[in-house]
Amino acid sequence: MLILGIETSCDETAAAVVRADAPKGGRVVSEAILSQLDEHRPYGGVVPEIAARSHLDHIDALVAQAMEQAGIGFADLDALAVTAGPGLIGGVIVGVMTAKAIAAVHRKPLVAVNHLEGHALTPRLSDDVPFPYLLLLVSGGHCQILAVEDVGRYRRLGTTIDDAAGEAFDKVAKMLGLGYPGGPALQKAAERGDPRRFDLPRPMKGRPGCDFSFSGLKTSVRQTVEKMPPGPLSEQDKADLAAGFQAALVDSVRDRVKKAIILFKELYPHGTALVTAGGVAANVPLRASLKALAAQADLDFVAPPLKWCTDNAAMIAWAGAEHLRRGAVSSLDFKPRPRWPLDPDAPKSTGAGA
Ligand code: ATP
Ligand code: MG
Ligand code: FE
Repeated sequence: MLILGIETSCDETAAAVVRADAPKGGRVVSEAILSQLDEHRPYGGVVPEIAARSHLDHIDALVAQAMEQAGIGFADLDALAVTAGPGLIGGVIVGVMTAKAIAAVHRKPLVAVNHLEGHALTPRLSDDVPFPYLLLLVSGGHCQILAVEDVGRYRRLGTTIDDAAGEAFDKVAKMLGLGYPGGPALQKAAERGDPRRFDLPRPMKGRPGCDFSFSGLKTSVRQTVEKMPPGPLSEQDKADLAAGFQAALVDSVRDRVKKAIILFKELYPHGTALVTAGGVAANVPLRASLKALAAQADLDFVAPPLKWCTDNAAMIAWAGAEHLRRGAVSSLDFKPRPRWPLDPDAPKSTGAGA
């Protein structure tokens, strides 16, 4: 089964061809991706209008590139899959209209994919993880712990009550003048820093439940900076603050996931894996901490390769394949959705992005 996936929900324009019935390691046939980082860097964050225009400028070429690399034409496809939300609506519309046009002209089935579901199912693309599994979804707009029961069946065990983890990384990096995007820059700076120099809080640690909170930690970094002697921060100051922040965030996430593991084991005694996905899952200390936690709990730990943690089209094609295997196809009149929670119990008004 050959599927073309298209992703345009944030600042990556991406197309990929996935062969869904191939063994793991051989499923992604081709991938074309264009990051808009340079276009957004001067603004220190993603500018929706610039993102939408850039997706429009590049999507056709990226689709052509993915198809050419795969050595196939549209007629050879079994189906298409496209991110239909949640995300920046202007970008999502570009991807959806492109996919609808190809599907209509070539009479191919089309699957509207939830971007978060793309992240959530990626560990089954890279590794053959069986359902149910425990998922830490940590990205630019989301921070959730979910029990993934099956395709389309997600039970939320915890969520952030304020910022997403990636958002916290990005804001603190900006505060420290570490550049954009913040996550990777902050991780790099932290390598040279002493995480013990500043005493930063571990939000939610020891509290019941599995929810997250990062805004107090972010404020604490700001207050620490304000208390420093006047003048620009030294490179060492920045590195120590970055290391302190990262250690506190990882510690807090670890505590929450530890609670979630207990709950997961009660609810799903035959579950075997702790899985992480989303852009922040690229963070090396976080991965190491989760790996140790999983080992202690006798669970397998699965984290996709870094390029499939951040936004990409292979995960969208794969999520489409998972739905197609269950006979689910979208009708061509589906609408792009700026908000689209994964779990049925999601509150209507909280949580960035969904
Ligand atoms: P969402 O998926 O919630 O809609 P998004 O698509 O913008 O949001 P992703 O592309 O999945 O998010 O992830 C981007 C985020 O991951 C950014 O906040 C970025 O700073 C963060 N990130 C990337 N690499 C790292 C890293 N090594 N350490 C920490 N954070 C990282
Ligand atoms: Mg991105
Ligand atoms: Fe994402």
